Amino acid sequence: MRFQDIFGHEKAKEFLINSVSSNKLSHAYILEGNYKVGKMSIALALSALVLCENNKDNVNSDSCGECKACTMIKSGTHPDVRVVTNELYGIQKTSKIISVDTIREMKNEVYTKSYMGGRKFFIIPNSENMNVNAQNSLLKVFEEPPEDTTIILLCENSNALLETILSRAVLIRLNPLKKEQVREYLTRNFANYADEAQISFAVNSSNGSIGYAQELLQNEELRELQNKICEYFFGIVNADYTSMYGFILFLKKNNSDIDFVLSYMSSFLRDMLISKQKREEYSSLNGEKLCGIYSRISSGQVMKLLDIVLKYPELISKNVSYKIAVHNMVLEIWEVING
Ligand SMILES: [Zn+2]
Repeated sequence: MRFQDIFGHEKAKEFLINSVSSNKLSHAYILEGNYKVGKMSIALALSALVLCENNKDNVNSDSCGECKACTMIKSGTHPDVRVVTNELYGIQKTSKIISVDTIREMKNEVYTKSYMGGRKFFIIPNSENMNVNAQNSLLKVFEEPPEDTTIILLCENSNALLETILSRAVLIRLNPLKKEQVREYLTRNFANYADEAQISFAVNSSNGSIGYAQELLQNEELRELQNKICEYFFGIVNADYTSMYGFILFLKKNNSDIDFVLSYMSSFLRDMLISKQKREEYSSLNGEKLCGIYSRISSGQVMKLLDIVLKYPELISKNVSYKIAVHNMVLEIWEVING
C-alpha cells in the first residue's frame, strides 16, 4: 500500500511522511475516522514507507511498492507488520471485544526482536472494542515503549479509549471525504461497472468513506439490506407494530450486519437533517421509501433519531447483551416517532 494510492487525506499523509523523513516517528498513533474511511490503508502505507528496502535512509515520500518488504506488506505477510485481532492469536471470542489475552500476546511480540531487523508495527483495528482490562494492559507498553516499535490504533470514536491511552498517543483524525471527492473516485474507477444512479446512491450513502462506497457498489446483498432497513423504518413511521417487531427480530438474528445497519441509518438521517436545515427538497437517491419518511418527521425528531443511532455502536460493542441493546434501540426509535 502506497500513500499515492490513497485518495484524499492529504494533511494526514503529509504529517506522517514528514514524521518519517525527520525521524520523529511516534511510538503510538490513533487514527480516528468513519467506517472504511481509509484508516487501515494509511497505517499500512506508513509501515511500508518505513520498512521499504528502497527507503533505507528515510528520504523518500513514498514506498516503492515493489521490493520484498513492500510486497509482503501488500499481501499481509510481513512478519513485522501485525494486524492485531483475537483471531491472530487464536483467541476465541463470541463478542467483538478485543480480549486482554490478545493484548498480552501482542505484548510478547512487542518485546521480542523484529524478524527482519527493521521497525515493528502493530495495527489494532476497531481498537474501541478493547475492554478496560485490555486497554490497561496496553497502557504498560505506551508507558515504556520499546525503541523499535510503533503501535497504531484504528477507531471510529476515540472517546471510547481511556484518557491515559489518548494522552500517550498522537491522534490523527481522518475526516470524511467530500461528496464530490467520493464521486470523482467512483466515476474514475467504476464508470464501466456501475451506472450514474448507482454511483450517486453509493456517494450519498457513503458517509464520506471511499471504502464504504466501493462496498456498496460491489455488494448486491448490502443493497438489499438497505432496502430492508428502509422498509422497516417506513413501517415504523406508519405506526406499524409488525414492522417494529420485524426490525427487532431482524437485528437480533443478524448480529454480523449491525455495523452496516447503524452506519447506513446514521448516513441517511444526517442527509435528512441537512436537507431540513437548509429547507431544501429532499431528493433521496436512497429510494422513495425514505422520501415518504422525510416529509412525515420533523427535524427535531431526526436529530433525536440520529442521537440514538450514534450512541448505540458504543453500547453494542460493550454491552453484555447484544439482543437487549438492539431491542432497546428499536423501541427508542419507535418512541421518538410515535411516542
Ligand atoms: Zn519498497
